[in-house]
Amino acid sequence: MLDADFIHRWLTAAAVLVDREAGHLTELDSAIGDADHGSNLQRGFAAVTAVLEKEAPGTPGAVLTLAGRQLISTVGGASGPLYGTLLRRTGKALGEAAEVTPGQLADALRAGVAAVAQLGGAKAGDKTMLDALVPAVAALEDSMASFAAARDAAEQGALATVPLQARKGRASYLGERSIGHQDPGATSSALLIAALAQTAEAAG
Ligand code: ADP
Ligand code: MG
Repeated sequence: MLDADFIHRWLTAAAVLVDREAGHLTELDSAIGDADHGSNLQRGFAAVTAVLEKEAPGTPGAVLTLAGRQLISTVGGASGPLYGTLLRRTGKALGEAAEVTPGQLADALRAGVAAVAQLGGAKAGDKTMLDALVPAVAALEDSMASFAAARDAAEQGALATVPLQARKGRASYLGERSIGHQDPGATSSALLIAALAQTAEAAG
């Protein structure tokens, strides 16, 4: 079973990975965007870890909802509201349970990813974060909620954005010139799922 502390550890692990990869994320965003994705997420996840330390919500749903709200209020740019919606909607889907199963978290993440698609109007193949998130939730379904399988699928999905032309977000303004570069948001989404797999592995 996964409790509030598990979700807190997941988001802390995500903050560590985002910190470590911030330079790379910004480099990717400098090729097809405005070179702020790494710093946007670094600021956002630092604020998330700070508010979780301070408020320590008692359920998985409340941890995710608070983290999502914090991302929306601290991250400028497209990715703040999108990641914020992902976490808030996932949290809402978990309700008020004190502990949830991996399968319940997988179902909630599917609802969160659907909310991202609805908010941003993008679908898999548009060269956005959904190119990592959609395969990740599909892998969770196929593997009966293996977070390691989701991590692998998200990483593959992020790599597979290289030959795509961007159809949403700032990169879409480049048209065909967006081809040949990995999408920064798909790359950071893969980090978020990698942090989840890492946290689940550490929990045994
Ligand atoms: P901005 O583009 O406003 O500078 P960021 O650089 O933080 O914001 O985030 C860019 C990332 O956001 C892109 O790489 C892409 O993955 C994601 N993104 C942008 N627009 C959308 C959208 N409509 N739906 C899903 N993801 C999107
Ligand atoms: Mg940007």
